[in-house]
Amino acid sequence: SIPSKPVKEWKYTTCNYCSTGCSIELGVSAEGRVITSRGHAGADVNRGKLCIKGILEHDLFHSPGRGTQPLMRERAHQPFAASDWNSALDKTAKQIKAIQDQYGPDSFAIVSTGQLLTEEFYALGKLVRGQIGTNNYDGNTTLCMASAVSGYKRSFGSDGPPGCYDDFEHTGCLMAFGSNLPEQHPIIYWRLKEAREKRHFPMIVVDPRVTMLAQFADIHLPITPGTDTVLINAMMHVIFKEGLADEHYIAQHTQGIDDLRQLVLDKYDPKQAQHICGIDEDRIRHVARVYAKASTAMSIWTMGINQSTHGSDGVCNINNLNLITGNIGKPGGTSLSITGQCNAMGTREWSSCSGLPGYRYLEKSEDRQHIANFWGIDEAFFPPARGLAQTDIFPAIESGQIKGLWLVATNPMTSMPNQPRIRKAMEQLEFLVVQDVYEDVETNKYAHVYFPAAVWAEKEGCHTNTERRVNLTRNVLPAFADSKPDFWIFKEMSKRFQDRNPIAFPQTAEAAFNEMRELSKGEGRTLDISGMTWDRIEAARGIQWPYTEADAAADEARIGKVIAIDTQLRVDYKGARRLYVDGKFQTDSGRAQLICVDFVNNNECPDKDYPFWLNSGRVVEHFHTRTRTGKIGNCNKFSPTPYMEMNPDAAAELGIEHGCYVRLVSRRGDAVVMVQTTHRVGRNMVFIPFHFHDCVNRLTLGLLDPYSRQPAFKQNAVRVEKVDQK
Ligand code: SF4
Repeated sequence: SIPSKPVKEWKYTTCNYCSTGCSIELGVSAEGRVITSRGHAGADVNRGKLCIKGILEHDLFHSPGRGTQPLMRERAHQPFAASDWNSALDKTAKQIKAIQDQYGPDSFAIVSTGQLLTEEFYALGKLVRGQIGTNNYDGNTTLCMASAVSGYKRSFGSDGPPGCYDDFEHTGCLMAFGSNLPEQHPIIYWRLKEAREKRHFPMIVVDPRVTMLAQFADIHLPITPGTDTVLINAMMHVIFKEGLADEHYIAQHTQGIDDLRQLVLDKYDPKQAQHICGIDEDRIRHVARVYAKASTAMSIWTMGINQSTHGSDGVCNINNLNLITGNIGKPGGTSLSITGQCNAMGTREWSSCSGLPGYRYLEKSEDRQHIANFWGIDEAFFPPARGLAQTDIFPAIESGQIKGLWLVATNPMTSMPNQPRIRKAMEQLEFLVVQDVYEDVETNKYAHVYFPAAVWAEKEGCHTNTERRVNLTRNVLPAFADSKPDFWIFKEMSKRFQDRNPIAFPQTAEAAFNEMRELSKGEGRTLDISGMTWDRIEAARGIQWPYTEADAAADEARIGKVIAIDTQLRVDYKGARRLYVDGKFQTDSGRAQLICVDFVNNNECPDKDYPFWLNSGRVVEHFHTRTRTGKIGNCNKFSPTPYMEMNPDAAAELGIEHGCYVRLVSRRGDAVVMVQTTHRVGRNMVFIPFHFHDCVNRLTLGLLDPYSRQPAFKQNAVRVEKVDQK
């Protein structure tokens, strides 16, 4: 963007919106204001490019609604009183202890986010599990990536996307499931587009809606919502039947082939499958052949797979497809989940309560003992069963099991499905603390204490992007007013729990990173970051894990030790581009597990009372619940209001015109929204962007995936009622 004043200094950092992980430089004026942003030309990920959100990201520092000081009140909805950090932290610690003393340790819950820095996730996990001592702690990543985590664990024995963006430059075929890259991850899309312009390989897009990515596809499969597993099973039927599977790879590196082969051959002939998934049998056969015969093939997916009642199964089935065709661990052959938030990976790696820090296993006694010894606490702090996921915490508030909640950089009053139910749960809380950059975030209406947090580049630490690349954020400005870095807030809270559970808490974010490096070490572990330091990460503009001490020593023997770098110079510390290149997986047997996925239709399907599928997704200008992009002039100007896409023929049948307002009704609630008629959606579907408060999530049901506890946002039934003419 064009700055209004001269830039005195450019400062290097990493974009804090999506998981692409673009390196960004922020221009600071002589007066110390951040006045512009530009892509960093030397970065492997974005090569100088940024999308609209990155281009305007400097506006976040001075955006309206930022919290300036801690706030407190006795009852929700009353006016807040200004407070100070000591009083707000003391009150919060006292309330947490009082609730736990009265109702038990697990009566208090914490929900964080995918948007803090990794060191902050690690520190929060240490505070919550080692000091506060509750097992009910989760990230809002349960709303976006939990099914990918669960599917990777079931197939490969561990979480962690095995591929990278470089795979676009090698693949012979790309299949995208429920992923609209040009709007969700614009710079990943730019990488894909560049690769296809150089070397035209087929792109198949599976999506019920004609998304922007579908418009650029060679083949678009407009599938019936929630039936991806049927399509993949039918493709595998063709691949086995026509002898197109990689039997050598299957025999050497997988287990479970007999059951999988029998299931798909017995039950998923494309002739029958077409009636469930809505894709013609000849097209199923065609895409199966294209995929299996390609030199290498890769699959990507996002929320279209994850946000479903069988999201984890969907991920396993994509992994099955790639395993039986030998497409794992090869350049251009991979199963690459495109993560949502900028640091969803950071919370998956270091903070998730479904596991232990550093992808160690909650279920394994030796791993629980390892972390407990490292932290100097009793193993009893780590019960072998995971605590409640975010989506189970709100029902537990309703039932009276949870009495207090700490929300960190997440906004469930817009993001959670079935808002009428969430609202009731929030009203029941005895104590709520909200920690957020913005005081005016919707959820803060229910809070008793508000902690104002610094924005990302007022802090220091790492993000991990979709391709396992750890990148560094430097603090470009000091924290605004009396807001504080999240790490500082956790460290201060830790002091207030030392009387209960004393622990050695890291005193700086870099000290936390060094603890993580130490914890990550281990023979054959994929998540080994022991060779990374903040300086090496910055010098390389990001390093992909695993990256061991031996890797770092080898690199420094080759290139020499880097002490200081110019902003444009990138130093070649080489992390691992791909996982499982040797065909060894993280399961006990070392083989990947092929998993039988039989289709069960448990979606809320349209019927005579609610005849339309309700689908939701993103627009390029906004991020999540618009707490940030809703305040940035040009993002908001290009996308100021919610709208509903409706097929023109379906609209005409109901006498609805483009630009009218309609009432959308589901079994949960209703919402009034403006209609855009478009052929992007079929006659039995409507689509609404999910970013807006009091809109689509008043209607969604949010049935849960049994493995990941991720809600189905995209398969709901609604009816459309005419309320107004334009
Ligand atoms: Fe930021 Fe994602 Fe846009 Fe890159 S693509 S500039 S990481 S929002």
